Amino acid sequence: MITVDEHRARILEATSALPAERLPLAAALGLVLDENVTSRWPVPLFDNSAMDGYAVRRADATAGAVLRIVADVAAGSSEDPSLGAGEAARIMTGAPIPSDADAIVPLEQTDLGTAIQETPPDQITVLTAPTPAAHIRPRGEDSPAGALAVAAGTPLGAWQLSSIASAGHDHVLAIRAPRVAVISTGSELISPAGTPKRGQIPESNSVLISAAARSAGAEIVTVVTVADDPAALRRALDELEADVVILSGGASVGAFDVVKAVLGGERGVRFDAVAMQPGKPQGFGVLDSGMLAFCLPGNPVSVAASFEMFVRPALRRLAGHTTIERAQVIRTAAVGWRCPPGRVQVLPAVIDGETVRPATNRGSGSHLVTSLAIASAFAIIPAEVERVEEGDPVTVMVLS
Ligand code: AMP
Ligand code: MG
Repeated sequence: MITVDEHRARILEATSALPAERLPLAAALGLVLDENVTSRWPVPLFDNSAMDGYAVRRADATAGAVLRIVADVAAGSSEDPSLGAGEAARIMTGAPIPSDADAIVPLEQTDLGTAIQETPPDQITVLTAPTPAAHIRPRGEDSPAGALAVAAGTPLGAWQLSSIASAGHDHVLAIRAPRVAVISTGSELISPAGTPKRGQIPESNSVLISAAARSAGAEIVTVVTVADDPAALRRALDELEADVVILSGGASVGAFDVVKAVLGGERGVRFDAVAMQPGKPQGFGVLDSGMLAFCLPGNPVSVAASFEMFVRPALRRLAGHTTIERAQVIRTAAVGWRCPPGRVQVLPAVIDGETVRPATNRGSGSHLVTSLAIASAFAIIPAEVERVEEGDPVTVMVLS
């Protein structure tokens, strides 16, 4: 038996970030930026108005002053109207400030108020004198030209992508998403919509693995189910073009454990008993093609636990993330439960405020797949603990 940490270390040693590629911003959501993105210009690009109102010369715009409106500047206008003594320009939010103006008087601060007028009025009366540079957003206030907009290593979410666009770029260099193939093995497996004959069950692991891998940032390229037939499994493996293949089932010591027979045999994958419950039988190796192969046990809860403990950190590292682990919090056990001696317990759990409880009250059976649906976390109990008592502090891996 090897420890969870030993197995994980073996996997992570074989795992590093994939190459980067230059992509349109819309295709880069969720990927990790692989270059420092600097701004092509100051942000904002030019002094512009923060309000709909009038661009004025402050010296003239005293309370009660009547100003002649000699120009109309909309957002996008390239005009720079000159303003003489007693003159002002109507201006809209985001429009460039005329060079002769040094403050904005908002519509609200004039006798005409905010009523929309198609053409500018001939004149306005200023109600309140503006302070210096009032309502002017200065050029470069946010950042100067050449400043770092988004740093290499940053995961690209909506805010980061919009910042890159503002900095003047429509493509970015990002680490590509790992391409993942999913193979379910088992002669008992049928489509979820099928009618199970005696001994048959709906295939659910590929749904779990594909969804979890996508949530972790992977791209799913192949999903297949094969029977417990070595030739069929070999064929399925030979057809793959992927960075990672995740298999489930057939990894144990049963008579028909086809994954162990094929991958552990000629393909050189190492199989171990890992001191964890559920999820003891685990295989991991790098195939001749360079593809990483994860051979997970078949029970759905074991698959979920194995994915979180071993596969997800590897996918995150391939995708270039530096944070590869889920957040962990401490919660108080709402009830007591038994733990397997000498093995880390990875128990589907429900967090309720400050407390945590097992997602099933029927023990920690790895076949209790329905319990996964109410679980939002895994309680991680160290190998040396044999029983969690009500009120004990428990480490909880939050799945969100
Ligand atoms: P195995 O490791 O192949 O012996 O599978 C262990 C248990 O998990 C058996 O009860 C299988 O029927 C079940 N199982 C294996 N693969 C799947 C799958 N893809 N979907 C649902 N259950 C599965
Ligand atoms: Mg099987």
